[in-house]
Amino acid sequence: MEVCQVDLFIPNPNKGAPPIVLYPGECWYCGCCVDECPIPGAIQLNPPLMNRVHWKSKNELE
Ligand code: SF4
Repeated sequence: MEVCQVDLFIPNPNKGAPPIVLYPGECWYCGCCVDECPIPGAIQLNPPLMNRVHWKSKNELE
């Protein structure tokens, strides 16, 4: 929630539940939420086909 550049998420009022995605159509597919998520694999980013060639996770760059 804190790293999203376009503020797609809001806190979930239910304690321990994942954040609520408000505007999924506004996602930039930057991958920051995937890289910073404390639970690996909890977020799966499915960028549009035309974006898939360029996006790599932080782990793939090391
Ligand atoms: S991939 Fe989308 S939801 Fe995740 S931080 Fe970037 S803009 Fe926000």
